[in-house]
Amino acid sequence: MTEWFRRKTDKIKTFDKRDTERGQWQKCPSCSEVLYYKTLENNNFICTVCNHHFRISSKNYFKLLFDSDENIEIGKEIYSIDHLNFEGIKKYSDQIEAAKIKTKLSDAITVKYGKINNVDTVICVMDFSFIGGSMGSVVGEKIFRAIDHANSNKLPLFIITSSGGARMQEGVYSLMQLAKISTKLAQFSENGGLYIVLLTDPSTGGITASFGMQGDIILAEPNALIGFAGARVIKQTIGEDLPEGFQTSEFLLEKGFIDHIINRNELKETLCNLYSSFGYLNKVSDNE
Ligand SMILES: [Zn+2]
Repeated sequence: MTEWFRRKTDKIKTFDKRDTERGQWQKCPSCSEVLYYKTLENNNFICTVCNHHFRISSKNYFKLLFDSDENIEIGKEIYSIDHLNFEGIKKYSDQIEAAKIKTKLSDAITVKYGKINNVDTVICVMDFSFIGGSMGSVVGEKIFRAIDHANSNKLPLFIITSSGGARMQEGVYSLMQLAKISTKLAQFSENGGLYIVLLTDPSTGGITASFGMQGDIILAEPNALIGFAGARVIKQTIGEDLPEGFQTSEFLLEKGFIDHIINRNELKETLCNLYSSFGYLNKVSDNE
């Protein structure tokens, strides 16, 4: 009798993880489609099925925007210090070290200047992977220096945000950055400087209370979470249900908080068109 239940053929061959390189496939968190990594990379990390914009690093944005790798970094030498000897679940000094190793970055923002379609520009990009893209004194100082450089050289300024807000581990030093950056941006604006911001997922807390919402033009990536306080806190405070899609780019566009939602594949072209409309001409046509 037992013979009937014995398997006569080899086991059914299943997909063997060892046959593929690690990380060759990526599942879309929005539509669950399993995407080939190379295809995703070639499409600037936008899902080819549902248009979901994956979070990408500053390195990817610089590669997407700048004409070449010959760009100069501002404030590379600045590092965060644990001024307050802050200790929560982890020591802040340990968190900084762990984040530096994990991301190979010095802090949650990188500032560079270089050319996009031959137009000189200053670009600051935040990295959410570095302690939640939190804004501490280093982020503040780097943006301060970026604005200074743009101001002295009459260049347009472009900031890409991705942040959970202020870096609580730095206490008041973190909150002071809001005033420091806002004052500097106001001076830049008075001097006729153009500041464009792109809000990506997520851009919340102190960022939306300062430079995230102070752009002359405010762009956002599709379906990004953008807001000041979390939805649960707001709901508890006002005691009312919140509308559907609250705190998404699409909702904020409808309410007039942002100017345009932009597909990442069209970012460089749109930025160049905006620069050109505001009189920032590329060096090639300057010489003609
Ligand atoms: Zn998708």
